[in-house]
Amino acid sequence: MHEMSLCESILDLLKDQAARDHFSRVKRVRVDVGALSCVEPEALKFGFDVVMKGSLAEGAALEISRPPAEALCLSCLETALVGERFGTCPHCGSEALHVTGGEELKIRELEVV
Ligand SMILES: [Zn+2]
Repeated sequence: MHEMSLCESILDLLKDQAARDHFSRVKRVRVDVGALSCVEPEALKFGFDVVMKGSLAEGAALEISRPPAEALCLSCLETALVGERFGTCPHCGSEALHVTGGEELKIRELEVV
């Protein structure tokens, strides 16, 4: 399950940041999970609880936002928000979309003590 390894990367980041910013507990983690990132929010939450057990973020709340994907239409050169990888351009109906965003997974905000 690759959500599990994602959670381990999140934990690594938290540890790095804790060493740098001198906090010892993480209370809340807000992450952006792009609509195209192939990450199941439910699986991510489950993995998060398991991976954080015994760490500085044990019991921390995980809040997931799902920013929509962004694409550039190669036919009309407008930027469009798309719900899925193989959507069509809402401006001209073309399928020639070049995805420019929505694949990211990043930590947006931490609440620490
Ligand atoms: Zn278009």
